[in-house]
Amino acid sequence: MTAVHVPGAPVIEDGLLVSTSPATGVEAGRFPVATSADVTAAVARARAAGQWWAALGFAGRRKRLLRWRALLAQRIEQLTDLMHLEGGKPVADAVVEVVSAVEHIDWAARNARKVLGARRVRSRLILAEFSGHLEYQPYGVVGVIGPWNYPVLTPIGSTAYALAAGNAVVFKPSEYTPAVGQWLVDTFAEVVPEQPVLTAVHGLGDVGAALCRSGVGKLAFTGSSATARKVMSACAESLTPVLIEAGGKDAMIVDSDADLDAAAEACVWGAMTNAGQTCIGIERVYAVEPVFDAFVAKVVDRAGRLTVGADGSDLGPITMPAQLDVIRRHIDDALARGGRAVLGGADAVQPPYVRPTVLVDVPEDSAAVQEETFGPTLTINRVSDVDEAVTRANALTYGLGGSVFGRRRAVAIARRLRSGMASVNSALAFAGMSTLPFGGVGDSGFGRIHGADGLREFGRAKSITRRRARSLLPSMTFERTPADVARLVKAIKLMYGRS
Ligand code: NAD
Repeated sequence: MTAVHVPGAPVIEDGLLVSTSPATGVEAGRFPVATSADVTAAVARARAAGQWWAALGFAGRRKRLLRWRALLAQRIEQLTDLMHLEGGKPVADAVVEVVSAVEHIDWAARNARKVLGARRVRSRLILAEFSGHLEYQPYGVVGVIGPWNYPVLTPIGSTAYALAAGNAVVFKPSEYTPAVGQWLVDTFAEVVPEQPVLTAVHGLGDVGAALCRSGVGKLAFTGSSATARKVMSACAESLTPVLIEAGGKDAMIVDSDADLDAAAEACVWGAMTNAGQTCIGIERVYAVEPVFDAFVAKVVDRAGRLTVGADGSDLGPITMPAQLDVIRRHIDDALARGGRAVLGGADAVQPPYVRPTVLVDVPEDSAAVQEETFGPTLTINRVSDVDEAVTRANALTYGLGGSVFGRRRAVAIARRLRSGMASVNSALAFAGMSTLPFGGVGDSGFGRIHGADGLREFGRAKSITRRRARSLLPSMTFERTPADVARLVKAIKLMYGRS
């Protein structure tokens, strides 16, 4: 095995991307780094494969996608072991992720025809002599750029829906999780051996940038907001449409009539699962005054029982070594500005691990409240009422998900959150519900994966009108007479002229 300096940090050796475990440094795999010409060639091959794939029709694609889904379900242990090795993710967290991904493949495969297939659209009195037809046609090749934190669920959230819609996909996995990305591509090739419908290109950010400029029909990006800006500007050069799933700083609001045990349980899970490396992770909590102390005590009790370490622990290592500095900075800054650590704190960062940390009374303008921390840390701040909670929750430029605990007003509060999703009396649940769209607002991105909107994201609306009779009120022709125009004016007043 080749020596790698920082466990988990990607290294390129002799043109190969070497992926290692952040916990042990054990090698997870090595993959050829794609040149710009390789990316262009992969997209050209995918374009031909996409035509074959589109020609299979919804039924042919559904059959193959369901076979892929079955393969993932059958080999779940193999996949979750690899996710654990390469990213450090606890196997139990990996299982939850794969279950969710399998559900999304199933839903996308079964519903693509209904959502995207050709259908008649009713015409109205104006143009009643025409029938309307609508269908969603594939883009050809979709480029998918993925992150490392959910190396199965996030790329499948785009890929399964893009494939079901009839596109070929060229996938650039994160340089931190290329082995998991390649595993997905290889299993797909087992069920679709005929053509390279789903392929991977490996490497660092420049390979992602090359994919943006490769002539793909659409680019689906999941990653940080900073990289999202680069992706958009690269895609802008050729007006390539983009879907952006970016970072977040999700808030939970705890109302006075909340079930505090349930709220604390969901809060600890939402903040600490995957060691807090979750785009929709709960990073901030606003609890109303009457329940604040009791809620904090329950969170500290639960989070304090979590185990941290390698195999079998609740929390694994931080996957991206550089993130440890960010987490340390956020904790130090919060404490320096008057925040208090009621669990964990200044010495919580013990590379490659971070112990659960709960901070209270943290000023709203500190990094721990403003920026994505991506660690098992949490700020809980006291608010006088839910209006203040909503104002604070909505004060950031991010707006991905969120959570509300309460009874009478919880759904109304969830509606007021400036975010793409919210879970009431739970945390993160919306991500696993294949029927609901997923995506953010503001710095968290735009466009939607999952659900019917997620399918439509990967098809272009194609509208066709067909004449079925002579026009009673001819207007869109130079053959019209002054009498026709006068009749049209009369008709418009009759139809629309009354208030
Ligand atoms: P990142 O932005 O560093 O990298 C994401 C991907 O972009 C990687 O594959 C990377 O190689 C590639 N990339 C880097 N520079 C590029 C460039 N100039 N052009 C094109 N591609 C480039 O993000 P990350 O650290 O891998 O992932 C963590 C981030 O992702 C967090 O901010 C997290 O919130 C976010 N995330 C969002 C969602 C969501 O659904 N909204 C899901 C998971 C993760």
